[in-house]
Amino acid sequence: MDTSCIFCKIASGAIPATFLHEDDAVVAFGDLNPQAPHHVLIIPREHVVSLASATDGHTEVLGRLLRVAAEIAERLGVTDSGYRTVINTGPDGGQSVFHLHVHLLGGRPLAWPPG
Ligand code: AMP
Repeated sequence: MDTSCIFCKIASGAIPATFLHEDDAVVAFGDLNPQAPHHVLIIPREHVVSLASATDGHTEVLGRLLRVAAEIAERLGVTDSGYRTVINTGPDGGQSVFHLHVHLLGGRPLAWPPG
């Protein structure tokens, strides 16, 4: 745990949040500033700064993040309408919180390419 990391504090319960999913490795909660009717963040409990700093040792949790995203999408009822999963990495990727997370966005058509 990185004591200065907001997502570590959420994952540990130090900052209260409503979890849409929690298990030993992963938690999911709503984005503070939602960009779509459904905007969920899925994060590893372990403090991993970004996708760029993940290693082969993180292969299982990386897969788990995506499986949990698909399970939540199913529960939210957006599997058929579709949704987007995004991992922003580094400055050009638009990453603003430096704890690896997958965005799950759904509930409206999303433009492509992104800005
Ligand atoms: P990114 O820009 O990809 O690093 O995404 C970080 C996301 O975290 C943004 O969409 C923020 O709105 C969201 N965020 C920041 N702080 C919180 C928080 N305390 N609870 C929930 N979401 C947050």
